[in-house]
Amino acid sequence: MPTKYIIVTGGVLSGLGKGIAVASIGRLLLSRLKIIPIKCDGYLNVDPGTMNPFEHGEVFVLDDGAEVDMDFGHYERYLNVNCKMNWNLTMGKVFDMVRQKERRGDYLGKTVQYIPHVTDMIKDHIFKVAKEESADLVIVEIGGTVGDIENELFLEAMRQMREDVGRKNIVYVHLTYVPIPYGVNEQKSKPTQQSVNLLKQRGIFPDIIIGRCSELLTPAIKNKISNFCDVDPEAVITGLDVDDIYEIPLIFEEEGLAEILHKKLNIYSPPKLRKWKEFVENMRNPDKEITVAMCGKYTQLEDSYASIIESFNHCSAHLRCKINLEWIETTDVRDTSFMENVDGVVVPGGFGHRGSEGKIEIIRVARERNIPFLGLCLGLQLAVVEFARHVCGLEGANSTEMDAETPYPVIDILPEQREIKTKGGTMRLGAYTAVLRKGTLVQSLYNSSEASERHRHRYEVNPDYHQLLTEKGMVFSGCSEDGRLVEFIELPDHKFFTATQAHPELKSRMEFPSPLFYGFVKACLS
Ligand code: GLN
Repeated sequence: MPTKYIIVTGGVLSGLGKGIAVASIGRLLLSRLKIIPIKCDGYLNVDPGTMNPFEHGEVFVLDDGAEVDMDFGHYERYLNVNCKMNWNLTMGKVFDMVRQKERRGDYLGKTVQYIPHVTDMIKDHIFKVAKEESADLVIVEIGGTVGDIENELFLEAMRQMREDVGRKNIVYVHLTYVPIPYGVNEQKSKPTQQSVNLLKQRGIFPDIIIGRCSELLTPAIKNKISNFCDVDPEAVITGLDVDDIYEIPLIFEEEGLAEILHKKLNIYSPPKLRKWKEFVENMRNPDKEITVAMCGKYTQLEDSYASIIESFNHCSAHLRCKINLEWIETTDVRDTSFMENVDGVVVPGGFGHRGSEGKIEIIRVARERNIPFLGLCLGLQLAVVEFARHVCGLEGANSTEMDAETPYPVIDILPEQREIKTKGGTMRLGAYTAVLRKGTLVQSLYNSSEASERHRHRYEVNPDYHQLLTEKGMVFSGCSEDGRLVEFIELPDHKFFTATQAHPELKSRMEFPSPLFYGFVKACLS
């Protein structure tokens, strides 16, 4: 079978959930196909690693150390794949590649132009990935909204692909918005018509339209959209507003999307999503409940902690437990009385000194009152600072990120980071293996002598303090293979006091919840 392609574009407005739509489409077809998701973003940054989480949500990190858009989190969680750096194509990267090629002289004296040189670069890249991965199906998400100047070249490349791969092997899906205006109380198709017109002006004629709507699309509106936009009525699919994004594949299935794709791409008829449905039902029908405090400084934008939220959802699905997250903005926490009403505390990753003292205080209370605590990256570092100050008696101990003048720099910059001046892609990034210590909680949770988790940091536990910390009772439950870096810590006499230098939330999947989160939730329940 030749590689098949599904191209997903968006219209009317941003934020309709294109990433989840792509992931859900893939999930429908997953059982027998090797599916590779590719995301094209129009911005000129090479990757989103340097963007503020307030603006762009969480920076997702892949095994290979790529810093990518949070949509890759959805792809990995729904498609059970480990994505790679070159599956993300930003216009910044495309221009970089074109310029390098031009400087090498590879264009042989030609005038280098948007068409064909930039569009060819985009297509060649996609075909190369498809070949390298022996993909049965490639799903390409075009970021942004049709009509944006910055994604025009991607759209043009996608139009051209129809000729390159053959009409039978490519399907265009357009995600739009079907509003029900207040007082009119009727589903409206005009924005969809206009958006499809914009797409048609670019030579792309969608085969499938997904209309995001607060209700199921009526047969009447499906007919209308079908009529105005030249798609079959059964190829107009509802993208229903839901509280729980894991329902989307099930809704697509009920709306007949799997069958349409089967016919249009001439691929196998996929079986029903049985296991997935069970997980969703467990989440919907919990038989127990806990409340976890999420103590960070980006709490106004839950997107900056997307993978943590999903990791808890995965635990929910396996433990049938409702997990309420209480967001605690730590910038000026003085009062820790909220801790009386929570079952556990998470201190997630973060950068800079704002909020760090609040977090340290919260960690102290969690440690002293035997409240389950999970520290992620910065959370580990601050747990070490807290322990150094209050157990080891090192007054004023700190991370040099927070206080360059601290008398006890228990957390310090990684030696190899000292000389680095540029910001993009220069942290310690990607998956690293930690050797787990026998008999520790962490080792029993991973049920293995090793754990490979993804990283994104510049600081570490200062080796000068390893001895003191362990003498005073902190257990290093996992270290880097050379023994130099502390990757996991725990306190043995505590109900659950565990932290990691990594970001285990990035590898949690519906089928395989992160062991640390799972252990933490169980401790909160007990
Ligand atoms: N700011 C810390 C460091 O760079 C922690 C980073 C993080 O939490 N991802 O090491």
